[in-house]
Amino acid sequence: MKSRDNEGNFGEEMIKAAKTIDFNERTIGEHLMLIGGRPVPAQAGATMAIRDPGTGKTIGSVPRGTAEDVDAAVDAAHRAFTDGPWARTSAADRARIMSRYADLVEQHAEELAFIESLNSGMLHGMALRMVGEVVSYLRYYEGWATKIHGVTSEISSPATGEFHAYTLKQPIGVCGFVTPWNFPMSIAMIKIAPALAAGCTCVLKPSEETPFSSLRLAELALEAGLPEGVLNVMTGYGIEAGAAIAAHPGIAKVAFTGSTMVGKEIVKAAAGNLKRITLELGGKSPVVVFDDADLDAAIQGVATGIFVRSGQVCVAGSRLYVQRKSFDKVVEGIAAIAGSMKIGDQFASDTQIGPIISDKQLQRVKSLVETGPGDGAEIVTGGRMVSDRPGFFFEPTILANPNPDARVVREEIFGPVLCASPFDDIEDIARIANSTEYGLASAIWSRDAGKIHRMAKRIDAGVVWANCAFVTDTSLPIAGHKQSGWGGELGREGLDPYLSTKSVFVKLD
Ligand code: NAD
Repeated sequence: MKSRDNEGNFGEEMIKAAKTIDFNERTIGEHLMLIGGRPVPAQAGATMAIRDPGTGKTIGSVPRGTAEDVDAAVDAAHRAFTDGPWARTSAADRARIMSRYADLVEQHAEELAFIESLNSGMLHGMALRMVGEVVSYLRYYEGWATKIHGVTSEISSPATGEFHAYTLKQPIGVCGFVTPWNFPMSIAMIKIAPALAAGCTCVLKPSEETPFSSLRLAELALEAGLPEGVLNVMTGYGIEAGAAIAAHPGIAKVAFTGSTMVGKEIVKAAAGNLKRITLELGGKSPVVVFDDADLDAAIQGVATGIFVRSGQVCVAGSRLYVQRKSFDKVVEGIAAIAGSMKIGDQFASDTQIGPIISDKQLQRVKSLVETGPGDGAEIVTGGRMVSDRPGFFFEPTILANPNPDARVVREEIFGPVLCASPFDDIEDIARIANSTEYGLASAIWSRDAGKIHRMAKRIDAGVVWANCAFVTDTSLPIAGHKQSGWGGELGREGLDPYLSTKSVFVKLD
């Protein structure tokens, strides 16, 4: 659907499409939570103001839900799981609903991209691509809905007699999702889609910074025919609503994406009923460039890998190691790209560096970068907040030669900040690449296939990219190693956590 004219203004057709959204005024308005298929305020009546990080202005509000609202959402999800039509919906009908849901998301692509871009500061073009990701997750897992099955077994245990024995794969129950602000819509759907394919019901709490796209996704799910109570979205702060989801005895499984620190809190809270957990956490991903690489391609790939989405990407390649002979050339090349990047509004078509999500996160990036020089780093380019415009912006930054144990090397900055160091010893580079508590992603740049495969084996990370950056596919899981997570999302591995296995032994005589 074409919704914008050549000046970028949104047309009448679009304005009519979304009730409370004013595209040209950049407001989304007051929204309610969606529990049991109905829009509801928080029981305590409180609301939270939501901002546009590109301007810092308030764009709307949502309820500040707390534990009592989590109770209501879990009740609704529980009823839908046990008594409602969802409990009797066949796998083929689940797939049909998911297919209609994907169609509707596609039809609302411009609206969803606008919401995501305005609320999260994501560049508008990227937000449109993320709508495509959401659709691809629904279509991929819609296919799985009809392919969930157990096995039969000719049992050979000492029990006498004849048996028919098999396993049943069944939906695990009510699932709680707690999500971050960097890719709100796609991270929500990476959980919702396999849960629906499995037949589970869901309570989703998006980040307090970025609730709007999740609420709109839940409205579209109802329109697609998902029964009431199957997908409930509640809004609120992590410490209030998120913690109540993690601890709730009525929730069978929690899927969390966010920081490693909060991930550990989720683990503790989930211990009460030993609920199943998957965790997608932080990263400090290494990028290793060898002398034999296509250096021009590597320079472009490394710059994309750290500066896209202003570095607010869990798999960002934030630690660069370049074989010494090529170090200056690679760092100069990336610095030239960084220095030429257009910083600006997320809706402007020439913007390359959009805003940081909030003033709090901006100050965190700034204060971490400021520790760099004291820890041996030279600021090659950037290093400052952008103060001549409203909103929250940070320059693309390169810190060269920090001490190996500097905070900027060890801690996730979650901003457009690259730490670059030379290396000499090829045999030792995998150890250096592995020298953080994280193990989310990694990249290798080389023309030597043997070197690539050896490094791929040695690097302790859930993803290895060779001569590319940021390639993902619905068919392959992303599964953090070490303190980057538990379990994987996407692919068949992304479906399994939503299923329980039951062995059935039937004596035939
Ligand atoms: P965060 O951990 O601060 O918050 C994530 C979510 O947890 C939010 O919804 C928040 O409200 C909630 N929360 C906060 N405290 C909580 C508590 N005590 N109990 C329950 N819930 C709580 O993360 P963020 O700042 O929103 O996102 C950035 C982080 O997310 C980074 O560390 C990034 O690496 C990580 N991330 C990881 C992946 C991945 O796939 N591995 C993807 C995206 C983001």
